[in-house]
Amino acid sequence: MVNQNGNSGMGGKRTEAGARLITVVLDGLRYQGATQWLGYVEHLVESGHAARYKVISELPSLSRPLYEVLLTGTPACENGITSNQVVRLSGEESIFHLAKNAGLITAAAAYHWVSELYNKAPFNPLRDRHQHDEQLPIMHGSFYFEDHYPDSHLFADAEFLRQTYNPDFLYVHSMNIDDAGHRFGGGSKEYEGSVRIVDSILALAVPQWIAAGYTIIITADHGMTVSGQHGGTTPEEREVALYGIGQPFEPGVYEEPIPQLAIAPLMAGLLDFAPSPRMKPTPIIPGLHVPAFGSV
Ligand SMILES: [Zn+2]
Repeated sequence: MVNQNGNSGMGGKRTEAGARLITVVLDGLRYQGATQWLGYVEHLVESGHAARYKVISELPSLSRPLYEVLLTGTPACENGITSNQVVRLSGEESIFHLAKNAGLITAAAAYHWVSELYNKAPFNPLRDRHQHDEQLPIMHGSFYFEDHYPDSHLFADAEFLRQTYNPDFLYVHSMNIDDAGHRFGGGSKEYEGSVRIVDSILALAVPQWIAAGYTIIITADHGMTVSGQHGGTTPEEREVALYGIGQPFEPGVYEEPIPQLAIAPLMAGLLDFAPSPRMKPTPIIPGLHVPAFGSV
C-alpha cells in the first residue's frame, strides 16, 4: 500500500506521487492516548503500513502557539505567538505560504484560529466560515468556531474540500478531543471516547486518501493532563504522536523523540519544496526517505 499511487482520475491538475500531503492535527491528544485508543491507526503501524514517532511539543503547550509552531517551524519566542490571546496574523512564512508560492493548491478544514494566523484576523463567523480565495495562503478554507463542533462534521468538511478542489496540501484539524479533556478531564471516559470516535472516522477516510495518492501525517499540537489541563511542561502535556503513512516513511515504531519544530520542515520536504529560512535546522528523522532531508 506504500505506493498505490492510484491517480484516481479525479481530473485534478497534479497527480504526481509524493507531492501531495494531508496533515491531520488532533487537538489535545497526548501520546499515550494515541497509542492506546487509535486502534485503526495503530493497526497500520502493527501491520507495517505506517511509522509512529514520539514528538515533544514546544512550550507553552497551548493551542495557538503550537499551531504556529507546527505550520511555521519557529518557536514562540521568535514568532511572537506566545499565548492563545495573541489574535493577529502570523508574521512568519507558513507551509500554506510556501505551498502557494510553489504553485500548489492549499486547503484547510480547521479551527478558526488557523484562519486568524494565516488568512484573516480577527475571525468574523458571518464572513469567514467559508473562504475561497486563491490569493490567500489558505485558498480553500472551512473554519469552525465552536469547540464542540462535531469531528464527524469537520472531517466531512475536509472531504468536501478535497473532493471539490483537489488540494495538494490539505490541513485537517479537529477539536473534540481537547474539548472533552477540558470538560471532563484527560482520564475521563469522554476524553477516551472522543479519541475512539476520531479513529473510526480516520478508518474511513485514510484508505481513500491513500488511494488518491496522498502522503498522510497525523499528529497533535499538545497533550492533556488527567485534570484536563495543558500549557505546562509535564510529559502528559508535551508528548504527542506523529504517524507517517506513505512511501516516504519506512514503517515501524521509532522511540527516539523528535522535536516539534521538525514538523514544518518535514511537511515542506514531503511537499517537495524548501523550508523557509526561518525554520530550524532539522535533526535526522529515522525511517524517512525525503531527499531534502538527507535522512536514513
Ligand atoms: Zn485545549
